[in-house]
Amino acid sequence: MKNTYDVVVVGAGPAGSTCARYAAMHGASVLVLEKDRDVGMPVRCGEAVSNRSLEKIVNIDPRWIAATIKNFRLISPGGHTVQPDLGGYGYVLERRIFDYDLARLAVEAGAEVHTKCYVDGLTSDSSGWTGVSFQWKGENRSVQARIVVGADGVESRVGKWAGIDTTTHLRDMETCAQMTLSNVDLEDDTCEFYFGNDVAPMGYLWVFPKGNGMANVGVGISGMASKKKAAINYLQQFIEKRFPDAGVLTTVAGGVPCAVTVGTLVKDNIVLIGDAAHQVNPMTGGGITSGMIGAKIAGEAIGRAIAENDLSQLQGYPAAWEKEIGAKHRTYHRMKSAVHNFPDDAFDDIAVNVLKLKPEKRTIWGVFKTALRHHPSLVWEMVKVFGLKG
Ligand SMILES: Cc1cc2nc3c(=O)[nH]c(=O)nc-3n(C[C@H](O)[C@H](O)[C@H](O)COP(=O)(O)OP(=O)(O)OC[C@H]3O[C@@H](n4cnc5c(N)ncnc54)[C@H](O)[C@@H]3O)c2cc1C
Repeated sequence: MKNTYDVVVVGAGPAGSTCARYAAMHGASVLVLEKDRDVGMPVRCGEAVSNRSLEKIVNIDPRWIAATIKNFRLISPGGHTVQPDLGGYGYVLERRIFDYDLARLAVEAGAEVHTKCYVDGLTSDSSGWTGVSFQWKGENRSVQARIVVGADGVESRVGKWAGIDTTTHLRDMETCAQMTLSNVDLEDDTCEFYFGNDVAPMGYLWVFPKGNGMANVGVGISGMASKKKAAINYLQQFIEKRFPDAGVLTTVAGGVPCAVTVGTLVKDNIVLIGDAAHQVNPMTGGGITSGMIGAKIAGEAIGRAIAENDLSQLQGYPAAWEKEIGAKHRTYHRMKSAVHNFPDDAFDDIAVNVLKLKPEKRTIWGVFKTALRHHPSLVWEMVKVFGLKG
């Protein structure tokens, strides 16, 4: 490891490795510091992505894919099942391999990656932030960089150290619990989503097949709901009923910031990406590909800033993020707030009415139109959340 780099990236998740790869491809010298022993471990993720989003950022390697998903089933509290045509498909990834490979691709592009490096602060002098300090094998070390990237996930501290407001309101912090099960009887090309107060209040429960009789089964509920009953308890209750003979191979818990993007993505020479920047889709809680898209945009802006020796180039990143995804995420956040207020019987009623539609009309848009037609009060709810009233 050298003493000085153009860029130090804190965290080797999908966002950190992608940003490192793009910055290195543009000629910057890049160091990635990861606190864990292994890149991509432990996996705290349902691992589901859409093919279209992933293809935008990386050539997909078949080794990353545990299952290809062609169907999505939405199950209402009363047990009505709607299978909308999403007009695309998805994957359940094998993130142990995926995250590893993203780091490998960053190295191939010229970045250096080091594990077991716990970053514990920013360094500074009279000119501003000069790099990071970190612990490695019990030693206190530091490295200088012209740009520091916070890709340190949901518990990010880089932003806070730089004085950026990264707080997430409790209602927007999804608390999640997930088990990877074996011996489950499922269709390998179908994801299931369960809704309702008994299953996942202010959230949803997912069943994502991984092939070979395995599945990621998890629940994500708003922090407001988890004050009354923890996500893990909802999950155990569901698994005992639905998969009584399953083996539990992994149990994980974690948070997902289902909020709008942080207000400051770039402050001086500090850049935030991925979960650290709240680049998660607030409606679904999916953050792999949206964080990678943010990371790609940031990596390219960083590359330009270094090549032209002009840090003002970094400002291209927030503007491009806003255009590509940021504005959409604000809309999804407002929609999520409306859906959180749906009573169970509204979910059931919508499902029953969607099932009356011709199969070709059962799209996500069809579900949405049916919801508004049969529950005019929801229009009012939407009007409120879209800020047109109240
Ligand atoms: C239970 C659960 C299920 C989920 N399911 C899905 C899903 O199905 N699909 C989807 O798209 N998203 C899902 N998500 C969200 C998804 O996992 C995240 O959005 C995604 O991992 C974010 O990538 P990232 O690179 O920003 O952060 P991370 O993947 O969290 O990576 C951050 C990295 O930074 C490292 N780090 C942190 N602090 C330091 C430090 N001080 N020094 C050095 N390194 C540090 C960490 O060890 C980690 O490797 C789920 C999340 C949870 C909790």
